Amino acid sequence: MQRIGFIGLGAMGLPMAVNLLAKGHPVIGFDTVAKPAFERAGGRVASAISELVAEADIIITMLPNGAAVLDVAADQVLPHMRPGQVIIDCSTIGVPSARKLHALAAEHGVAALDAPVTGGVGGAQAATLTFMIGGEEAVFTAMRDVLAVMGSKLVYAGSAGNGQAVKICNNMAAGIIKIAISEAFVLARQLGVDERVFFEVAASGSAQSFALTRTCPVPGLVENSPSSRDYTNGFATSLMLKDMVLAQEAAMASGAATVLGGAATHLYQLCANAGLGDRDNGIVYQFLSAKSA
Ligand code: NAD
Repeated sequence: MQRIGFIGLGAMGLPMAVNLLAKGHPVIGFDTVAKPAFERAGGRVASAISELVAEADIIITMLPNGAAVLDVAADQVLPHMRPGQVIIDCSTIGVPSARKLHALAAEHGVAALDAPVTGGVGGAQAATLTFMIGGEEAVFTAMRDVLAVMGSKLVYAGSAGNGQAVKICNNMAAGIIKIAISEAFVLARQLGVDERVFFEVAASGSAQSFALTRTCPVPGLVENSPSSRDYTNGFATSLMLKDMVLAQEAAMASGAATVLGGAATHLYQLCANAGLGDRDNGIVYQFLSAKSA
């Protein structure tokens, strides 16, 4: 069994590490905040990242953003890595940061993958995450079994950074669609249409989407939607905003025309500015409702 060093045992990282432990992988973890649940699940906490790197075959990072990943990798992980070890970053960090990580890894003579995920905390707990993987295909093939412990779908996306590229394109589209569905509900209500009537038609019509029938932003229409539990335990607006900003930075850098992506980014920024960053992103429906006559 490969020994895993897991850095970042937060909302996503902890259940991913626990799933690796459950399948028999020795996991040594590190986080800047104490994580007793990791030790209760059988994990061992490293006193320093250098110790974790010394004892692991594969190093996985699940950190808040690109700055954190690059800081940790450049200063504390890569200088201690040996040939044959692999660093896999599963955080959402955007394309330039991922390509920088690959370049740094190459300078140190070790292999790297960018392997961001979709599926949320529920998917991390149930080991049903979808991984989007960028890097050398042979490295992906060698890491396939380990990734499969944490996810049910592994998609090889191509060369370095392409996993992050797929991730931000997907999330940009998801962010736009959530707003489109929210605006349709706001308009329907303004026109005197019962929201259940609109839902019934849209759910079997051309507006059918994950944002409507799985994570409906209107409370009470879909039982397990975050909106039906007061916009908690979903995908926070602040995280949506982070991904939308990464997509817009990529659009600017690459010359892609993403008009709605830009507008959607501004709207999530307004929601965050209004103090709604911690709420599920479906809160955009309430924000738009409050702005309507
Ligand atoms: P989180 O804030 O819950 O966890 C991040 C963890 O990293 C925390 O425990 C924090 O203490 C730790 N950390 C921060 N800096 C550190 C450092 N220098 N060294 C060691 N540990 C450090 O965030 P999360 O929700 O687990 O998200 C992690 C990543 O996954 C993010 O990049 C996020 O965008 C991405 N993601 C999150 C979700 C989701 O639904 N939460 C879904 C898909 C992708």
